[in-house]
Amino acid sequence: MDRLPDLAVGDIIRLKKPHPCGCDTWEVLRVGMDYNLRCQECGRLAQLTYAELAKSFKEQVKDK
Ligand SMILES: [Zn+2]
Repeated sequence: MDRLPDLAVGDIIRLKKPHPCGCDTWEVLRVGMDYNLRCQECGRLAQLTYAELAKSFKEQVKDK
């Protein structure tokens, strides 16, 4: 399984697949069993499990 870096609330991350709105950066709102993300462009919220996020994670853009 892919591994995630140590993410914290407030970090900005980039996913491999862009959101339908065209934005590929997300703000981390919650970490733990599940990860809550907010699209930086349209503000849509997404909830992913660790495994799901590890699979689509590309890079950490900003470390808060
Ligand atoms: Zn979006």
